[in-house]
Amino acid sequence: MTDMSRLACTGKWFFNVQAMSSVRVSGISKRYGNKTALDSVDLDVGDGELFGIIGPDGAGKTTLFRIMVTLLVPDSGKVTVAGFDTVSGYAEIRKRVGYMPGRFSLYQDLTVEENLRLFASVFETTLEENYHLVEDIYRQIEPFRKRRAGKLSGGMKQKLALCCAMIHKPEVLFLDEPTTGVDPVSRKEFWQMLRKLKDQGITIIVSTPYMDEAAMCDRISLMNEGRFLMTASPADIVSGFGSGLLSIAADDKLEAMRRLERLDGVLDCYFFGETLHAVIGSGLPVSSVSEALSGLRNVTVETAVPTVEDCFLELNRK
Ligand code: ADP
Repeated sequence: MTDMSRLACTGKWFFNVQAMSSVRVSGISKRYGNKTALDSVDLDVGDGELFGIIGPDGAGKTTLFRIMVTLLVPDSGKVTVAGFDTVSGYAEIRKRVGYMPGRFSLYQDLTVEENLRLFASVFETTLEENYHLVEDIYRQIEPFRKRRAGKLSGGMKQKLALCCAMIHKPEVLFLDEPTTGVDPVSRKEFWQMLRKLKDQGITIIVSTPYMDEAAMCDRISLMNEGRFLMTASPADIVSGFGSGLLSIAADDKLEAMRRLERLDGVLDCYFFGETLHAVIGSGLPVSSVSEALSGLRNVTVETAVPTVEDCFLELNRK
């Protein structure tokens, strides 16, 4: 039994244990030479939350993760994880967190089973002792347990890495871009696994460049160029979209975009999947947009429901 679970058994300590199991980031900054990777970032993640940090390459996600898991010291600011300071309490934090770095970090020459046993032994536990924690995920890779990790498919590697990050029963799980480069089916399965882990009470902080994954999180922070643009639930972020939004289809999208960009009242226009999205001010009627596109083939103009990606672009524009 760990000290934490011992405390959890006594009612009077239960509240404190809950309060300790969160992540608090206050005014963190980090520079690499002249490059500011993090610029006074604040974050508060509650117990049992599935929290997403969403941003493109270079936003500062990995730097923030490395600071939170005690592998990097910030230039200024303070981080606590599970109630411990990342600098003075790093040893305590390392016992309590699981970390899945962006790049596959397991031992490529060891088999699936050897990797898992090695990670368990580092944390002075065994695969058997904590098998129940990883059972659902491990069952999917068990048929390949004698295969070297380096020979697994992307989705399998990702499942093994998640098992290794979980095998010591962490309170907080940090997953840095776990779905990058993984096929859409495995991505979907992975998020389903995360929801199940969340249901077991594990706090999960996960980063992703894929805006469509935001909907799977309880709350998200949209991040760009070392700053958080907004932190809220995906629904609240979307409902805060402050302008009108049109979805526009046309055979010649480039010409449609040129015309829209010249039209007064169009605040922004960008490719969105197979269509264009045009952000319009309140004074511009939809009929004026259709008129501006007249003569182009197969044009349709429809009002669109904003997505997290639209909100991210709007926040950047502002
Ligand atoms: P993300 O994970 O969102 O892609 P990173 O934290 O990896 O972002 O990087 C943030 C910024 O810091 C980027 O501009 C990146 O080029 C820069 N950076 C990251 N690591 C280093 C490093 N070791 N030396 C110099 N610059 C770095």
